[in-house]
Amino acid sequence: MFTRRRVLLAGTAAVGAAGTAGLLAWGAGEKPAGPVAPAAGAPARRLPLKPSAYRLQPLTGYGPPRTLPRRPPVRREPLLKMTGRGRTMVLTFDDGPDPRYTPGILDTLAEYDVRAMFFVCGEMAVDNKDLLARMADEGHIVGNHTWSHPLLTTLTRRQIRSQMTRTSEVIEDGYGEPPHWFRAPYGAWNRAAFQLGAELGMEPLGWTVDTLDWTTPGTRTIVDRVENGAGPGVVVLSHDAGGDRSQSVRALRRYLPRLLDTGYHVTVPRRQAG
Ligand SMILES: [Zn+2]
Repeated sequence: MFTRRRVLLAGTAAVGAAGTAGLLAWGAGEKPAGPVAPAAGAPARRLPLKPSAYRLQPLTGYGPPRTLPRRPPVRREPLLKMTGRGRTMVLTFDDGPDPRYTPGILDTLAEYDVRAMFFVCGEMAVDNKDLLARMADEGHIVGNHTWSHPLLTTLTRRQIRSQMTRTSEVIEDGYGEPPHWFRAPYGAWNRAAFQLGAELGMEPLGWTVDTLDWTTPGTRTIVDRVENGAGPGVVVLSHDAGGDRSQSVRALRRYLPRLLDTGYHVTVPRRQAG
C-alpha cells in the first residue's frame, strides 16, 4: 500500500486538494466545510526509526490531578485549513523531533519570531525531551503524531489508543502539557482515530499544501511548492525527521522571510477554549 501510494504521490502535484479542504476551525461548534481531501499523506520516513527503547511513563504521580482539556467534538474529517484570519498561514513539521534537523528549524523560526506546529512521534520525542522543552519555551505547538508512525487503518482500536496515549504522556512530560492536536500518519484517518483523539482532548489536523519534502526533491522545489501554495488559511506540511531533512531546513530559511515579506502572518491556531 505504501508503495502504491508513493507511486501515486510521485505523480501528484505538490499542492493537493486544497480548495475543498475542511477548515481549521477553533470556534466552538464550528464544523469543517467541504468534502475530505484524499489522503495525501506522505510516507514520511524511508528508514525505520530507532528501536522503541522507551521508558515507561508513570500514569499516576504525586502532583495535582491532571487537568484534561475540554473534549472536542468527534469529527468525521480532519481540519485542513484555517479560516477567517486574512493572510495567515500555519507551518507544520512532522515525525520529529530529530536533533539533526529540528534545532535548525527552531533557529530559523526564532530568527523571524514565528511560531509553528510540530507533530512529534513518541519514540522520537522520548529521547529528545529537551527539544520539546525548547518548543514550549519558544511558543510552538506540539501535536501528537502517534508513537511509531503506523498506518492507523491497519491497527485495532486498542493499538491506536496505545499509540496516542503513550505519545501524549511523553509530550506532557517534555512539553509541559498534553497535546491538543493530533495528526494521523500518512493522513490515513479512520473513525477510531477521530473518536479516540477527541477522547484524549485532541483536534485532528491535516494540511492544505504538501511540500513532499520527504522525497528530497531539492531545496528549490520545496521553496517553490510553499510559495506557489501560499494563500490565506493554508496549512503547510513539511518534515523535520524520518530521513535526511537538510533540504527542508534550508528551504525554510528561504521561504519564511519571503512569506513574511509578502504580507503573510505565519502563526499557529489558538488553543481550543477550555
Ligand atoms: Zn508523519
